[in-house]
Amino acid sequence: MLRLQNVESGYGESRVLRGVNLEVLPGQVTCLMGRNGVGKTTLMKTLMGLLRTRAGSVHWNGRELASLEPAKRAKAGIGYVPQGREIFPQLTVKENLLLGLEMSMSGVRTFPEDVLEMFPVLASMYGRQGGDLSGGQQQQLAFARALASRPGLLLLDEPTEGIQPSIVEDIRRVILKLKAQGTISILLVEQSIDFVRSAADYIYVMDKGVMTLQGTPHDLDMSQFEYHLSV
Ligand code: ADP
Repeated sequence: MLRLQNVESGYGESRVLRGVNLEVLPGQVTCLMGRNGVGKTTLMKTLMGLLRTRAGSVHWNGRELASLEPAKRAKAGIGYVPQGREIFPQLTVKENLLLGLEMSMSGVRTFPEDVLEMFPVLASMYGRQGGDLSGGQQQQLAFARALASRPGLLLLDEPTEGIQPSIVEDIRRVILKLKAQGTISILLVEQSIDFVRSAADYIYVMDKGVMTLQGTPHDLDMSQFEYHLSV
């Protein structure tokens, strides 16, 4: 389980996260929503250790992560798919995927079949360069690469942003499959209310560096969402 208590972080003089409290329960999909610029990506980077936790605690499976460097957090089982699908365009799909295994503690060096099966398009483009893939396919590649390291917690920062509807649907299917398997916890930044309502076990809405609304999709109604996402 992931538990953040009163987490603060930011850039230089500016404090972006102003006391974030958040929990991600085992095997659940927890969605993080909020208007542009409220601090969602800052929270993901802080969780991954790319930004320093200035105050508060980040507990993951009983361990305090707040002062650990990013590589140690990855070894502790945290996977991260940043916004903008950072794949290697000059490397083949296969080589990109194999890089995901570098972080794996299993010692396995063959890309896991079960992950590849979730993304049939990648299997069909295995020998092509990453740069030949469409934006949506690159997003799937980044997602698959993160899954290959068998994370206990996966941080997904707007995986559906700017992607064609059919691939958004593919990504939704993978998230629902992972949720059904129940072996991985997911923290998902997502702007689409429909997507979130269909995938989330629990939802947080953030504004100006704090959580302003939270609950299960059943607890929250559309008018609450719309109010908190628009003010
Ligand atoms: P969101 O993901 O919710 O759109 P961000 O976490 O990207 O929001 O940004 C939160 C705030 O931090 C914004 O005011 C943004 O301008 C600022 N910010 C983001 N990245 C940087 C950076 N590298 N340096 C300084 N300020 C930044």
